Amino acid sequence: MPKQEGAPAAQPRGRDPRSRPAPDKAPPSGKRPSTLIIGSEVQPFAKTGGLADVLGALPPALDRLGWDATVALPRYRGVTAGALVDAFPVTVGGYTRDAGFFETPLAGHARALLVDCPDLYDREALYGVDAGDYPDNPRRYAFLARAALEFAARRGTVPSIVHAHDWQAGLAPVYLRTLYAAHPMLGGMPSVLTIHNLAYQGVFAADWLPALDLGWELFTIDRLEYWGRISFLKGGVLEADFITTVSPRYAEEIQTPELGFGFDGILRSRRADLRGILNGIDTREWDPPHDPFLPAPFDVKDLSGKRDAKIALLKRYGLAADTGAPARPLVGIVSRMIDQKGFDLIAALVDDLPRLDASFVVLGTGEARYQDLWKALAARYPDRIGAHIGFDESLAHLIEGGADIFLMPSRFEPCGLNQMYSMRYGTVPVVHAVGGLADTVHDYGLAAPGPGNGGPGDSRATGFVFHEYSPAAMLGALTRALTLFADGRRWHALQVAGMQQDFSWDRSAREYVKIYERAIGQRAAKADATSKGKGDK
Ligand code: ADP
Repeated sequence: MPKQEGAPAAQPRGRDPRSRPAPDKAPPSGKRPSTLIIGSEVQPFAKTGGLADVLGALPPALDRLGWDATVALPRYRGVTAGALVDAFPVTVGGYTRDAGFFETPLAGHARALLVDCPDLYDREALYGVDAGDYPDNPRRYAFLARAALEFAARRGTVPSIVHAHDWQAGLAPVYLRTLYAAHPMLGGMPSVLTIHNLAYQGVFAADWLPALDLGWELFTIDRLEYWGRISFLKGGVLEADFITTVSPRYAEEIQTPELGFGFDGILRSRRADLRGILNGIDTREWDPPHDPFLPAPFDVKDLSGKRDAKIALLKRYGLAADTGAPARPLVGIVSRMIDQKGFDLIAALVDDLPRLDASFVVLGTGEARYQDLWKALAARYPDRIGAHIGFDESLAHLIEGGADIFLMPSRFEPCGLNQMYSMRYGTVPVVHAVGGLADTVHDYGLAAPGPGNGGPGDSRATGFVFHEYSPAAMLGALTRALTLFADGRRWHALQVAGMQQDFSWDRSAREYVKIYERAIGQRAAKADATSKGKGDK
């Protein structure tokens, strides 16, 4: 049970600025277009997965393109960053709490806005505990959207666009079209919704509607209703001006019954406004020449530090690091241990993997059966298989740095970050050809014929890809990788090709700006047409 449930309205921590107008910390360039990004996790404040990496890196990248970027998220337990810049009561469906607004700079002028409401956010975990998701999650995330939008309106300098992420922010576009449609500051504001993982749709009992200040007229098939319940994500998809998802391939896949999770029809109805924009990676945080978690720096010209990382990694896992061990290929996995990530394929190969001439290091948390499987393998093969169950950022870096091969056999993968980190660290990915994995990893065997095909003259091949989602196909790709590992020259060429890929955020941010500009342009044109229409009457 969350500790704060039912507690009296908590006061925001820090001084109370209500006695004077909220200071506007906007950068001097007041005319810059601005985006209010809303999401449930942002690096370095709160993270359970790739969404946090994206929301930590996108605002600074937009800032570099001349956009004023603010990302709003809950001030969860343990987050102490930020200075209180405003505080006021926020009401959602009769539930009123004082919200504190803490700002803290990200890189450049970009900033995070941490919404403080201990009753909702001062809890053990982000979304729920082992017993299940927090039952008031609809309120927790509706409150976030409302607080962020009302904060923007109070400032007087409303954003040019709102950019909502995943179901947790799905109600932001809905509120803009309903509750705030006639609001003097927020009315008519364009919005974009980004889907990071369609498997999570924010589906709740329909009787939440009044508690979210949403009318029953929204309980229809073309609004929020979803099989007798309501879906925050569906609301966002249908009310946002544009929808993006995190890779071009995934944008196609989610329109099919196989990978549409019941949303394929809804998404097909909006296909004209749906785009796939590949995530970038934070190239400062994931940078082998400057990675504090590696024992020695390395780069594309001199990979010798990677050997040090491998030895450190073997030692960290208590695997044999002397004699022949460092020469044996080392396969790394950093992942949530769930079916989506291909752990069912791994489980089916539980007798085959240990027979390969390779060592394995695994880091992750997830379903007990997969945690147990890896723990059992590590106990059985203590010199060659290591499993660490937990979330450990520094170890994730060391695995990317020290492994030779990164295994990512996801059943579906909207974008995936680890395969990109791997390539940047000269760690060759073995992936299933799906979503962002298909968009970012080029198969060694299928690389365009060219000088050396995979040898030093070939710049396209960056890894090993399997197409059929089956244990045999995964084993085949992994075996191909292990075979090539023995050919030092070709292997080195593959590493170099991966390390030279450009996965920077600047490229992705430019595409978001294009979508922002289109959404803003369309809204302006609509507003123009409406006011002309009125004038003609
Ligand atoms: P997803 O968001 O579906 O989990 P991604 O590949 O997009 O998958 O992003 C996962 C992110 O979370 C990466 O930054 C990865 O390194 C990190 N990660 C996942 N599990 C762990 C873990 N157990 N310890 C440290 N980092 C982890």
